[in-house]
Amino acid sequence: MAKPSKVEVDQETCIGCGVCADMAPDVFEMQDGISIVINAQGAEYDEVQEAVEACPVECITAEE
Ligand code: SF4
Repeated sequence: MAKPSKVEVDQETCIGCGVCADMAPDVFEMQDGISIVINAQGAEYDEVQEAVEACPVECITAEE
């Protein structure tokens, strides 16, 4: 298992659904209605990748 090297949210596209922050609360935090990355290494890459796949507008990217 490894931590992601980089995690980004496209803030123009995020609709603020909160799914990513529910799935990986140590990585994503909701601020002013959108998700921001508070710590790219806050979860294992596989967990972050689950949030990437769960995002309804596909605006999260994670690199191994
Ligand atoms: S899952 Fe996607 S759309 Fe929902 S808050 Fe996270 S980044 Fe935004």
